[in-house]
Amino acid sequence: MISSYRGRLAPSPTGLLHLGHARTFWTAYQRALKSGGTLVMRNEDLDPQRSKPEYAAAMLEDLRWLGIGWQEGPDVGGPYVPYAQSQRGEFYLETWRRLVREGFVYPCRCSRKDLARIAQAPHDEDDEPLYPGTCRPASALDETAVPESPAGLNWRFRVPDGEAIAFEDGHFGPQSFVAGRDFGDFLVWRRDDVPAYQLAVVADDAAMRITEVVRGADLLRSTARQILLYRALNLEPPAWFHCPLMHDAAGQRLAKRHDALSLRALREQGQTPEEVIAMFG
Ligand code: GLU
Repeated sequence: MISSYRGRLAPSPTGLLHLGHARTFWTAYQRALKSGGTLVMRNEDLDPQRSKPEYAAAMLEDLRWLGIGWQEGPDVGGPYVPYAQSQRGEFYLETWRRLVREGFVYPCRCSRKDLARIAQAPHDEDDEPLYPGTCRPASALDETAVPESPAGLNWRFRVPDGEAIAFEDGHFGPQSFVAGRDFGDFLVWRRDDVPAYQLAVVADDAAMRITEVVRGADLLRSTARQILLYRALNLEPPAWFHCPLMHDAAGQRLAKRHDALSLRALREQGQTPEEVIAMFG
């Protein structure tokens, strides 16, 4: 039987992958295997400042070393090329155009400094702060005022304030985040002409026909944002499966700065893939 399951691995080449990433990707691999489906590798080199080709090469190599295989990706091709975000600009522009045409997004002129000054309640260390709505227009953009390109301005998605965005997570069970309280009007395009993660990931998961997203629990709140994008774009969202994050001995969440726990370092210390997999617990 041919399975319609399509999963993906979506690492960002902004550093070396660590044990926490490896555990999440291992879970994604196992879930695709179990359902006899297809696994897609997507290089999320969206941010030209932070992405490095040497990290992109290292992440593919380290995951293969661990024993993870994929059927589509930047190194093997497939029906949904290209598999690197830096080459998918046209898809993102088209998505932005649809959102702006239908009045879901608006331009924002707030600087980083303005936003820092009106800092809100603490959030996850790398989550987007709650936007106070400074540039939010009273009504949707007038069609005649829609520019040709998003460049030069930040663009934000207007969230339905007070609405609970609920979804079922395959690992954590029922989830719910309130728009305007747990997250605010979020960025879909940056003034330096880089699409924001939320827009790019939804455009790609939809275009690549992904049926289940497996990723770290740090993105649970982003899932609620992405569900709003799917709705605005009239697309069916995938199923969600978030993996618990790993912490170091001092209780700190693993991050790319934890070089000692990178797959590279473990491998150089002589650990075998089996020993690394046994560390996932
Ligand atoms: N590229 C993102 C990251 O490395 C993950 C995106 C996702 O899985 O949705 O954090």
